[in-house]
Amino acid sequence: MTHRTVIMGLGRSGRAAAALAMSRGDAVVCVDLNLQAEPVPGAQLELGPHRRQTFLDADEIVVSPGIPARQCDIVAAQAHGVKVIGELGFAAGFLDLPTVAITGTNGKSTVTALMGQILRFAGHHPFVGGNLGSPLSLAVGNTDVDSLVIEVSSYQLELPGGFAPDVSVILNLTPDHLARHGNMQGYAKAKAEIFARATVGQVTVLPVDTPLLEDAAPKRGIRLWLGGHPGVIRDGNTAHIVVPFKGVDKTIALERTRLAGEHNKDNLATAALLAVCMGVDVESIQSSIASLEALAHRMEPVGALAGVLWINDSKATNVDASRVGISGLDRPLVVLLGGKAKGPGFAMLSETLAQQRATVCFGGDGPQIAAELRSTGLDVQLVATMDDALCAAQQLAQTGDAVLLSPGCASFDEFENFEHRGRVFRAWVEERLS
Ligand code: ADP
Repeated sequence: MTHRTVIMGLGRSGRAAAALAMSRGDAVVCVDLNLQAEPVPGAQLELGPHRRQTFLDADEIVVSPGIPARQCDIVAAQAHGVKVIGELGFAAGFLDLPTVAITGTNGKSTVTALMGQILRFAGHHPFVGGNLGSPLSLAVGNTDVDSLVIEVSSYQLELPGGFAPDVSVILNLTPDHLARHGNMQGYAKAKAEIFARATVGQVTVLPVDTPLLEDAAPKRGIRLWLGGHPGVIRDGNTAHIVVPFKGVDKTIALERTRLAGEHNKDNLATAALLAVCMGVDVESIQSSIASLEALAHRMEPVGALAGVLWINDSKATNVDASRVGISGLDRPLVVLLGGKAKGPGFAMLSETLAQQRATVCFGGDGPQIAAELRSTGLDVQLVATMDDALCAAQQLAQTGDAVLLSPGCASFDEFENFEHRGRVFRAWVEERLS
């Protein structure tokens, strides 16, 4: 009998999963609450309010990452014996390639992209995607690909199926997305799902001194550490990598990197460790360091105006990302902070902000952020929009300073997303460069 697959959510992941299911001969029904969702050629379409029976009649339901696993139709279908799986786990079931999976609160995309560049430099042909860029379903059938480097969000780990990467890392854990995960324990548990199916020979990498993650992570597999050995310890511009099962005990020099910010040296050290685990020579990793590039909107230098460097870190969408970005630069900063806050917690920035030239708060939650920072005794300027903040920064910055857009907030109050915010920042600067 034909396998009946329901695809839930018609974003990029859902569409790619639908095509994949059809390619193996499934009868596919695509459902989406959005009446405007584009049809997928060859699949049946059900738009608007869900019909429960469609879910109960399915053999398998593939869920897009935006939809929580506790959604009522999913729960009902599971209770009815229907197999429910996320797009990542669904696609992984079709693939049998060496796989690295990267999760954490901050730095996922950067480490994923760096890892992909290191592998390519060494002559490999990795698929680099997942939560970043292309959904994993698009890797299926691509015969050029010899390895998978996958950025994984905690949402994608809610319905993981049999997803069991050869090497998986949780980079860090700081408050974010708590509305979906309830509290930090719930968030740690969701992240630790990445290790849940690790077998004896598979590698799991954790930061040292994160008891919440250690408690949540299963003890199986080969454990390596970020900030400890076996694993990698970064000290300034040196990363000391110890991976006993590869016979590696070597240091890598990081000073030739073009990436801005101290945290990016940690990201490099992590990517180097993962590359060693995937069998890349330390010499090749060392040679690649100077050519590795950052992604747009992450500590991205946009240009210099009158001796002031303008840096776009629009992707700093939570307070810890901002803290790391602000404290990792070696010149006085005018920091632009604001947007749609994910909660309080900005007071923890006041110590690092106090060492900077100035702080400008803007956007929908600018007033609350300014109030929180002022309550710690910090002097901040409050303006209405990001455009106002850019004008204020131009007045405040002195030759040799940098202006850092490090919002610590989501962007939806003024922009479509963080990329849009970053593009507006870039355009403002570039207009004044010419
Ligand atoms: P993610 O994909 O996890 O959101 P990104 O690589 O896109 O992470 O970086 C998002 C932001 O997080 C960056 O703009 C930077 O401010 C901050 N960041 C990057 N790497 C780290 C890190 N290792 N630790 C903490 N913050 C980081």
